[in-house]
Amino acid sequence: MKILYLSPEIAPFAKTGGLADVARALPPAISELGHDIRTMMPRYFNFDAGAAPMERALKFTVGMHNGLRAASLWKTESGGAPVYFIANEEFFFRDGLYGIGDRDYPDNLERFVFFCKAALEACRGIGFLPDVIHCNDWQTAALPAILKLIYGVYRRDPFFDPLPRAVYSIHNLSYQGRFTEDLWPVLSIPRSYYTYDFEFYGQINLSKGAIHFADAVTTVSETYAREIRETEFGYGLQGSLENRRADLHGILNGVDYIEWNPEVDPHAYGITYSADDLSGKREIKSRLRAEYGLPNKDDVPVIGMVARFVQQKGMDLMVDCAEHILRLNAQLLVLGSGDPQYQDFFEGLRRAHPDRVGIYIGFNNALAHKIEAGADIFLMPSHFEPCGLNQIYSLRYGTLPVVRLTGGLADTIRDGENGFTFSAFSVFPFYEAVRRAVDTFRNQPEEWRKMMRAAMAEDYSWKKSAEKYIDVYRSITGK
Ligand code: ADP
Repeated sequence: MKILYLSPEIAPFAKTGGLADVARALPPAISELGHDIRTMMPRYFNFDAGAAPMERALKFTVGMHNGLRAASLWKTESGGAPVYFIANEEFFFRDGLYGIGDRDYPDNLERFVFFCKAALEACRGIGFLPDVIHCNDWQTAALPAILKLIYGVYRRDPFFDPLPRAVYSIHNLSYQGRFTEDLWPVLSIPRSYYTYDFEFYGQINLSKGAIHFADAVTTVSETYAREIRETEFGYGLQGSLENRRADLHGILNGVDYIEWNPEVDPHAYGITYSADDLSGKREIKSRLRAEYGLPNKDDVPVIGMVARFVQQKGMDLMVDCAEHILRLNAQLLVLGSGDPQYQDFFEGLRRAHPDRVGIYIGFNNALAHKIEAGADIFLMPSHFEPCGLNQIYSLRYGTLPVVRLTGGLADTIRDGENGFTFSAFSVFPFYEAVRRAVDTFRNQPEEWRKMMRAAMAEDYSWKKSAEKYIDVYRSITGK
């Protein structure tokens, strides 16, 4: 099968969250199963151009609502599969991917409609007619409708015959791509499609449009697939998703075990370890403590957290619970950035307990690896979590996760077997789960070791998930 995989971010080129990791690892896994899959993303100014040598494949133009725009296509290879970049200085050569801080760029609709149209035109330019176009999150959500309505119905474009099928993958439904109604002409879709297919409380909602127009919709865990239909985590799109129930699939993300594996990880001070020999893990913990000024004490666990500082990640629970957790005689090491109120909170916590709290505000990939490797316990008290990658990384690093039972966390962590769980989103159940973890760590070393072994033995490699995506592609193409 021929597949075009579109993502607004792909690691290591550009990353703001888990989608970049998925877009890096899933296409090579599909390629290994014998399919011709090519990924495409915008060529942002800010990405690590040193990550791979790049060659220009094409110069072309893209018809937008207000005239032709220039584009160029660049090509490299990542993980054995080709990666293409769509370049346009005006739209993409900026400091941020989607905005600066928490302020989105005002022309995001135009930028990403351009990306969708350019991706289709680039396919024509390189003579690649996909069977399936796999779109990811709101930045690519205009494509299914543009493909079907403009290329399929109105233009009957001879190149796109047979018309590719479209898959829409939801990685986080709280980001939907909503824009004011006056911007409708940017989509170049007849106005009659606004009301039923895209309109959402008086605004354009790109995710809603994709849920209507895609041939199949997927999301990143089975539990989240149910939650977005049945609960407030659908963020108002429960009805649209319920209508597509038969075509909505929950497929758990895999993990790139080349990147996240304590046996080969180069980021944790160059020290590696395995389930059979954990001495390296102890060494990493002691170096990490030294780096953050935390004393080395055997019976004090290091509790790690790596997250965007947003409400979704359970930051309000952390605010209410952190002092109680520290009183369990534990150390807390937090890496993240985002909402200033949470940054201030953690800074304040460190000032109050400099011997128990380490904090790094910012994005730091090496430190994320060090925390996964050096901590004993990892916290994810998320309000909702479509899949969550950090808890799966934690399993492989033998860093037992404490998670709230939601989305992918509920599908991967089993209380008392490979981690500790709680259900109700409130302080006491969270505290109680952390207390049990600390207690097991301190007073039941045999049990702790058994759980670590169970966690480290689990396999969330991409192959299984890749096969499930191929089943979805088959179901909509009949191939
Ligand atoms: P989300 O995509 O909602 O942010 P995931 O758990 O799916 O959450 O993925 C988060 C990814 O981003 C992980 O690879 C995690 O290590 C990484 N990450 C998050 N915040 C930071 C940070 N401040 N520095 C480095 N890596 C980070």
